Amino acid sequence: MSNNEENRRCHFYYKIGACRHGDKCSKKHTRPAKSHTILIYNMVDFPSDGIHPQEFDVLYEDIYMEACKFGPVRSMVICENRNDHLRGNVYLYYEREQDAEDAKNNFNTRWFNERPLYCDLTHVADFREAICRKHDLGTCERGGDCNFMHVRRPSTRIRIDLEKSQAKHWQIESKKPKG
Ligand SMILES: [Zn+2]
Ligand SMILES: [Zn+2]
Repeated sequence: MSNNEENRRCHFYYKIGACRHGDKCSKKHTRPAKSHTILIYNMVDFPSDGIHPQEFDVLYEDIYMEACKFGPVRSMVICENRNDHLRGNVYLYYEREQDAEDAKNNFNTRWFNERPLYCDLTHVADFREAICRKHDLGTCERGGDCNFMHVRRPSTRIRIDLEKSQAKHWQIESKKPKG
């Protein structure tokens, strides 16, 4: 890719999957034809007075279990930003591109919290470049308006349990005779 073309790409759209200018952005937002990662826009509603950790664990588990039905998920990220383009966004990185495609098509027909879901493939491949590190340290001065991902994490116990059960499930699945 030429330098010029690189300059015309929207950094936020490519690294974070969402940009505050949306379709009005002066830089290029070109959807990927294939990707390991899907983005479900504004899926999670965070109450203005916050969410109890236990409640969040239940929610996290629900979404994770749904997502795993399409194939092994390598990572799942939920954003607790307050700005419209990142608020409640759920990112899912699948081991296989085909599973991401299937999940995207399915989520686009579904409802959650009485609202239809809207899902797309996204260029985000490395969450380390997209996550606000300051938020993780509790020192992000931009707060909920930050344009990098403010990740809400489940308890370690839930995360480990889910990863284990997923690994076991796909191990059994891959040993099943085909046809
Ligand atoms: Zn943009
Ligand atoms: Zn931040």
